[in-house]
Amino acid sequence: MPFTIAPRALLGCVALLLATVAAAQERVPGQVPNPSKEPPIVTPGATPGAPPTDAIVLFDGTDLSKWVSQSTAGAPAPWIVADGIVTVKPGSGGIQTKQGFGSCQLHIEFATPSVVSGEGQGRGNSGVFLMNSYELQILDSYQNKTYFHGQAGAIYKQHAPLVNVSRKPGEWQTYDVVFHAPRFDADGKLQRPATFTVFHNGVVIQDHVVVMGLTFHDKPPYYEAHPDKMPLSLQDHHNPMRFRNIWIRELSDQ
Ligand code: MG
Repeated sequence: MPFTIAPRALLGCVALLLATVAAAQERVPGQVPNPSKEPPIVTPGATPGAPPTDAIVLFDGTDLSKWVSQSTAGAPAPWIVADGIVTVKPGSGGIQTKQGFGSCQLHIEFATPSVVSGEGQGRGNSGVFLMNSYELQILDSYQNKTYFHGQAGAIYKQHAPLVNVSRKPGEWQTYDVVFHAPRFDADGKLQRPATFTVFHNGVVIQDHVVVMGLTFHDKPPYYEAHPDKMPLSLQDHHNPMRFRNIWIRELSDQ
């Protein structure tokens, strides 16, 4: 009787052979397998600093519709928009985004007042709070001494910037930020701290530094569990700081 093999068994043999070949190809010594997912296509901004196509534009110069007041819950953001720029209204309180964000890439442009007033922390002070909790300091640090982990580009009271690359008062400056959100377990215990990488005017000033906890000016930082996504906020420190071209890209957390 001739040797026969059932069609289903034959298919199984072929599938096994193909899987073995595929596995062997993936295990070529010294080579990394090609990821299964193709990187999505993103069109970059037309000019340096302009938002790419997958960015969420938070302020494009027209209005503060993506923001609300921090001092009056639910009220419109009270800062002043004119000529494509938003200016802090001193004493009105900070503003925060309506949408929450976790890990992200952020681009923001700011200018300290061209007429210098005050010194140290009282001169051109504001701040970008990631997740409403972790402050990247904004300050006029052009020939203006203060404590090092409180100057422009500091992770406030935690990490001084690597260098001081501040422009003169009144000139436009940029922060480009890569922020990874902290992770907490179901009991609220910290599993992974937050990190910051920051470029100030194109120069790296924070190189993947580990955040020690919430930002305080009068006590050491510590972590407190919070949701995976929280608003981005800008600080009113009673100086008429100006902002423009603010956009953000959400990052999937690896
Ligand atoms: Mg500040």
